[in-house]
Amino acid sequence: MRWSQAFIPTLREVPAEAEVPSHQLLLRAGYVRQVAAGLYAHLFLARRSFLKIAQIIREEMNRIGGQEFYLPALNPAELWQESGRWETVDVMFRLKDRNQHDLCLGMTHEEEMTNIARGELRSYRQLPQIWYQIQEKFRDEPRPKSGLLRLRQFVMKDSYSFDLDDAGLDVSYRKHVEAYRRIFDRCGLKTLFVEAFSGMMGGSESSEYTAPTDAGEDLIATSECGYAANLEKAEAQAPPAEDPAGEALPEPFPTPGQKSISDLVKFTKESPARMIKTLDYIVESRPVVLLLRGDHELSETKLIMALGTAVFRLATPEEALRLHGAHLGSLGPVGLKGARIVADRALEGRRDLIAGANRDDTHLRHVTPGRDFAAEFRDLRVVAEGDLCPRCGKPLKLTKSVELGHLFKLGRRYSDSMHAMVLDAEGNEVPLRMGSYGIGLERILSAAAEQNHDADGMFLPPSIAPFDVVVTAANMENADVRAAAEKTYEELLAASVEVLFDDRQERPGVKFKDADLIGVPYRITLGKRKLAQGLAEIFERSTKQIQDVKLDAVTATLKARCLQ
Ligand SMILES: [Zn+2]
Repeated sequence: MRWSQAFIPTLREVPAEAEVPSHQLLLRAGYVRQVAAGLYAHLFLARRSFLKIAQIIREEMNRIGGQEFYLPALNPAELWQESGRWETVDVMFRLKDRNQHDLCLGMTHEEEMTNIARGELRSYRQLPQIWYQIQEKFRDEPRPKSGLLRLRQFVMKDSYSFDLDDAGLDVSYRKHVEAYRRIFDRCGLKTLFVEAFSGMMGGSESSEYTAPTDAGEDLIATSECGYAANLEKAEAQAPPAEDPAGEALPEPFPTPGQKSISDLVKFTKESPARMIKTLDYIVESRPVVLLLRGDHELSETKLIMALGTAVFRLATPEEALRLHGAHLGSLGPVGLKGARIVADRALEGRRDLIAGANRDDTHLRHVTPGRDFAAEFRDLRVVAEGDLCPRCGKPLKLTKSVELGHLFKLGRRYSDSMHAMVLDAEGNEVPLRMGSYGIGLERILSAAAEQNHDADGMFLPPSIAPFDVVVTAANMENADVRAAAEKTYEELLAASVEVLFDDRQERPGVKFKDADLIGVPYRITLGKRKLAQGLAEIFERSTKQIQDVKLDAVTATLKARCLQ
């Protein structure tokens, strides 16, 4: 490809609307243009990168026995009604056809794949199966942002495994864990493999590959022993607290107008770690009071696991007053009647704390959980920096990261609700054991840009860069330079190197700036002075190192370096 004929609309300025580096760089380098919020057009360079990423994924999925499918993005509502997700999933695009039939745009394909499996798979002899596709997905995202990190339409590799039993599912799951490791390694990404929360997918176990980067919205808790978990899933274990000794009993004290924990901290001069935060919830129409340490945050995903339901909400001020006789802000566990009390584990074994008195403008000191009130102790809170690793007990570190791929053991979640059965060796009808596994392609390119850039632009890993090399003729007016550049370009093409020839009538500075920006790992520069000595320059974008090479050795040197 000749740059003079290519559509590579680079930008000098950082676009004002782009906040994270990958978004800025992909716009500046002419990879993508925004169509609407969360919708991006992939231009020439992006398309080349995405085709390479897809090919790596395809090769590694085929290696574990994956069979490539292509299903419609347009799904009939009936399948989602059968699985029960038509009502529960709220980020789905829904529409009606001309006959008023409900349809949706698929954001994942468990229902469609299970529908094929139940119609065709009859016997254990046909198992296991791994089916995958690389296809468009849609999400009616409430807050699309961060460029290609949170989209409304995006490309995913999604695969689905079908096995006879749980042992078979374990094998399919491990195969995917290994395939994913190879995919992300081949894409040149630094990743963490972490325990994750299953969320709306259901099932028993899930894990994620994430890419550490400051642009990420997920927090991962890691420990030097190798423990790594998404914050939604990480087990919380607070360092031991130092509470006063003594056996003082609860004692009310006036706290006029002091409602929040930060109010109380200022008013009492005590640390928030010495306070009990009381949250009044209505869970499936019954009152449940949640207790947390004053400086800890509730994790809604852990609450779902602790309560076994996602049907809950905060009580209104009127409900709190009617149920407990005091306004929100003055509630506490001591003497509380008519509500289930669930306390975070960080309060277990604590003593002499401060809590609301269930009387307006009044709190209690010397509150000791277990002695002054009974509660169920569960892991309810978001892990905080300084919490201890559940495995080795050393402090956890929190790292921002981008989720690249998610693996779910779904088990019988969909086969039970959609009746996907096969006959086992004894002739008994058994439900299929299913796994589902996704990778976001835009996430891979964005994470690669986040992890591999500097002030001048990107240096994408060679395996996913749109070209292997840019050949830059410093001055196209000079006949010798021009002839040498044309010859080098032809040689590289003949050697199957993916080469972009910068033959534009531009100043060398402009050409170098553009080549630095667009993420191509090598640049070969042909200039008058070195050419007189029979030399060309090979510039490695990631290290900015320059090597002089004899003109007739350029192709061989480059092939040895970038096309192993
Ligand atoms: Zn550890």
